[in-house]
Amino acid sequence: MANILDGNRIRDEIKNECRPRVERLKARGRTPGLAVVLVGHDPASEIYVRSKVKTSEELGISGETLKPPESVTTDELLEIIDGLNRKSEVDGILVQMPLPPQVDAKKVLLAVSPEKDVDGFHPCNVGNLATGRPGPRPCTPAGIIELLKRYNIPICGRRAVVVGRSDIVGKPLSMMLLHENATVTVCHSKTTDLAAVCREADILVAAIGRAAMITADYIKPGATVIDVGMNRLESRAAVERIFPGTRPGSAPKLEAFDRKGTLLVGDVHPLDVAENARAYTPVPGGVGPLTIAMLMVNTIDSAERRIGVC
Ligand code: NAP
Repeated sequence: MANILDGNRIRDEIKNECRPRVERLKARGRTPGLAVVLVGHDPASEIYVRSKVKTSEELGISGETLKPPESVTTDELLEIIDGLNRKSEVDGILVQMPLPPQVDAKKVLLAVSPEKDVDGFHPCNVGNLATGRPGPRPCTPAGIIELLKRYNIPICGRRAVVVGRSDIVGKPLSMMLLHENATVTVCHSKTTDLAAVCREADILVAAIGRAAMITADYIKPGATVIDVGMNRLESRAAVERIFPGTRPGSAPKLEAFDRKGTLLVGDVHPLDVAENARAYTPVPGGVGPLTIAMLMVNTIDSAERRIGVC
């Protein structure tokens, strides 16, 4: 049986390491502060922001959530960001995506001071990552590297294949794996014979956004498989396609769907990966929990950097 890489356990480890760092900062009269900007009422964004705020409160990081209306303009948002950039008690600024269509999201992200950019999306921090300089790293890829290291999965010299080239996951993760001395291949929707490329991977990462697309024929037996995808299935037919009633392991998933009316699945086929990989991240409970933990780390790092203790 493949090993399950437990994201909840690693998240708790990371959070426990954050607590004394927050205490030390507080003892110096410098409570770390995170400001979240949430525009409008997108239900998924509201859930994400709630759990980010809850985690920061739990760790003693002071939080502030600004909620401009859905009709906000680019200039109004720039003014909000400018205010947060100037506020000395704010160490991290997070603008929850997506922003409404009338807002120039790139302009807004560019306005966040690079030293408070706890998402690591500012071009200055993208450059810091590319050139191996210190600076905040995007949270989801940083969490994946933490997970691999804490489970002692060798990266140096291994073949890593990352499917997906987004600015928030695929590209930064590829760069981080390269810095860890993996031999990295980045794939996308125009990659030919994707399955054959994936089968070369000792470490296979799926960051695609397509439910259970990575099936057994994409997985080299014994590979480590990291599933970043979060896809919500809303019909029983879709659930049955991935979890046919006749296949062992399907029954609990079908029951879960029948109870809730939806089911969260990753980009990797959950039954195939369990049969073929040496180790893999489940969905839920794999990569997801790490993203918020790394946001906390980035906020504390920023507070420490700003008072010159690291
Ligand atoms: P994205 O910006 O939509 O990028 C998806 C990538 O997948 C693109 O590079 C795209 O290629 C590639 N792709 C799409 N269809 C493909 C196919 N058939 N074959 C090969 N490549 C294909 O997505 P994202 O923001 O990186 O997110 C990816 C997934 O991760 C989503 O399910 C998202 O919800 C999840 N996610 C989870 C977390 C977490 O904390 N767990 C954080 C972020 C994202 P092209 O570039 O050619 O279009």
